[in-house]
Amino acid sequence: MKMQDKVAIITGSAAGIGKEIAITYAREGAKVVIADMNKAAAEATAQELRDGGGQAMSVAMDVTDEAAVNAGVDEVVKAWGGVDVLVSNAGIQIVHPLQDFTLAEWKKLLAIHLDGAFLTSKACLPHMYKSGRGGSVIFMGSVHSKEASMLKAPYVTAKHGLIGLCKVIAKEGAEHGVRANVICPGFVRTALVEKQIPEQAKTLGISEAEVIKDVMLKETVDGEFTTVQDVAEVALLFASFPSNALTGQSLVVSHGWFMQ
Ligand code: NAD
Repeated sequence: MKMQDKVAIITGSAAGIGKEIAITYAREGAKVVIADMNKAAAEATAQELRDGGGQAMSVAMDVTDEAAVNAGVDEVVKAWGGVDVLVSNAGIQIVHPLQDFTLAEWKKLLAIHLDGAFLTSKACLPHMYKSGRGGSVIFMGSVHSKEASMLKAPYVTAKHGLIGLCKVIAKEGAEHGVRANVICPGFVRTALVEKQIPEQAKTLGISEAEVIKDVMLKETVDGEFTTVQDVAEVALLFASFPSNALTGQSLVVSHGWFMQ
């Protein structure tokens, strides 16, 4: 067990990539917190993990709401005594050409990805610093933390921004044994991506099959989607790595779409 009794808060973990990270951490012995704005789905996921023999609780948390983030983290600390791992994963996607984005859409997307990462880090870091056990902060970036695509101005901006925030936390957290890293997945077939396929087909005037083959997977080495399990393996590596040697990094898991 690589995470025995470590308390891990994972935002946006009622579904998709976050849920698979929760399953993986629970299998490795962690006490997993399903933190999601969809409270019913969060509790259903937590129940699923408990039914499978894991340790899990749910908290209702909109990551853009400072009071909700602080209340959720307080609830976890009260129940389980601290926080060892934060995975800031909650995210959405909105696709348009830049000139068609409203300011409200821009602000909403930046708030979920960037305010969410800031607020959850701000709430969790003092507990990691105080425990003397160190900790691990993990941001869910994307290949779009490194690379641009058309139609995704706020998403690409936010995902690049997470790398800057991660590097600051890596520097500030080092003396407390707190590491910070970013996972940068390629396309994973979750609800977030399923929604984009018809939208991009419409905007680009091509078929949905062409969106998958010629847009999403075009630059991969083998035409394959990245899976939730692939991403969860990287999340496990970052959470369980034993020293400050692996900090301030961003790791791309994308079937070679982006190579560095
Ligand atoms: P998803 O839509 O399957 O799941 C997202 C989860 O986040 C949902 O449970 C939703 O309720 C929750 N959520 C949304 N807004 C929230 C908020 N304000 N507060 C709390 N919870 C909120 O999405 P996914 O594909 O699993 O994406 C998870 C993360 O991975 C996102 O940050 C996304 O940008 C990133 N990512 C996804 C892909 C991909 O191809 N799917 C690729 C790279 C990066």
